[in-house]
Amino acid sequence: MNLVLMGLPGAGKGTQADKIVEKYGIPHISTGDMFRAAMKDGTELGLKAKSFMDKGELVPDEVTIGIVRERLSKDDCARGFLLDGFPRTVAQAEALENILADMGKKIDYVVNIEVDQSILMDRLTGRRICKSCGATYHLVFNPPTESGVCDRCGGELYQRPDDNEETVQNRLEVNMKQTQPLLDFYHGKGYLKNINGQRHIDEVFLNIDSLLKGLKS
Ligand SMILES: [Zn+2]
Repeated sequence: MNLVLMGLPGAGKGTQADKIVEKYGIPHISTGDMFRAAMKDGTELGLKAKSFMDKGELVPDEVTIGIVRERLSKDDCARGFLLDGFPRTVAQAEALENILADMGKKIDYVVNIEVDQSILMDRLTGRRICKSCGATYHLVFNPPTESGVCDRCGGELYQRPDDNEETVQNRLEVNMKQTQPLLDFYHGKGYLKNINGQRHIDEVFLNIDSLLKGLKS
């Protein structure tokens, strides 16, 4: 079962990735983990990636793609994998097609968790932190008893600049702009499966699960 997982920040991608990996026993391959492992192993590509990251530069596609190729060749991917955070661009998606073709494999599904932008905004801007004790709340998921006041110590709650509406909106828009060509590419390939991510976590997983059940591992 060869999967790519997609979804905007706040769509619940991490939670669903955990559930898929647990049920189907395939490795969860995120870009960050892949880079860290390659650097730790001291592979040639890992060291190359490190030299760019140390300079604060973007790791070039050829290095990233090489690291993906190495990772997907490992034994634990024999029965499948869940890619998360890669590919980010159509060029990377095309490279991934080539890597898999060389291995006699292909992607089964690109699972895209869809959530309306207004709901993502609520999820991503809802965090509040206590100025006095640092306790965290969420206006939707874990609200304080009294608005703006910490349950624990009575301190004042504030919103971090990273969580404010303008910053979050901007982040979502940049993400959507980057993602759309990739969704179009995978739609054209017939891999794309959109999943409604606005329901309860367990219902979202039931949907993904019934899709994946049809696949042989
Ligand atoms: Zn407090």
